[in-house]
Amino acid sequence: MDARELRQQLEFYRDLGFKEIYRRDPSPLTQMATLPPLPGIAPSGDSLPRIIEDIGDCHRCRLHEKRHTIVFGVGNEKARLVFVGDGPGADEDAQGIPFVGRAGQLLTQMIEGTAKKEGIPLLRADVYICNVVKCRPPENRNPEPDEMEICGQFLFRQLSAIQPKALCALGSVAAKALLGGKDGVTKLRGRWHKWRDIPVIVTYHPSYLLRAYNQDAKREAWEDLKKVLHFVYD
Ligand code: URA
Repeated sequence: MDARELRQQLEFYRDLGFKEIYRRDPSPLTQMATLPPLPGIAPSGDSLPRIIEDIGDCHRCRLHEKRHTIVFGVGNEKARLVFVGDGPGADEDAQGIPFVGRAGQLLTQMIEGTAKKEGIPLLRADVYICNVVKCRPPENRNPEPDEMEICGQFLFRQLSAIQPKALCALGSVAAKALLGGKDGVTKLRGRWHKWRDIPVIVTYHPSYLLRAYNQDAKREAWEDLKKVLHFVYD
């Protein structure tokens, strides 16, 4: 890569909102040799298979150390609505599919149940579901800022390739990745935001809703979902 290409690549990531870049530790050399090259700068003509190829057997951050499977995303590649969670849990790490554990079952019920009640013919398979980080954070901790930034480039490429009509950020980690800032869900939910030109609704993460005392949050999450479903599918 010459200096002009490097400048273009850095400007591309700056325009996507990246404020810092990380240099891989150059040792051991053998590990470097197996790393896939940096992805191309232009998402035009980008596609989900190309992004998967670029992710490769990713060792770009420490999350690779304990993961079993890279959990890329699932659903309709031309979805009009994309749900973004934070990172895979144990079930997702084992199966390679996002939101298949208890929180995932609740998410599926919420999508399909709300759509049915609102007269919208929609199944989970019609939307697209992915996470900010593609490898399970150990002990289900939140992803660290550098992990989110490194893996965020793939999330952003996924969203750019799908070009949905709207996004739904599940929880504060996804909201932070898409919108920046420090506000939590309570402050962000109930109104529209934007990731680039795409409208974003922020709502509670299904794991939070699984806690029995969160009746108000459950009601609010259903309201958020109704709002985004009607916006996309009416
Ligand atoms: N929680 C998430 O944020 N993502 C998953 O895929 C599963 C649980």
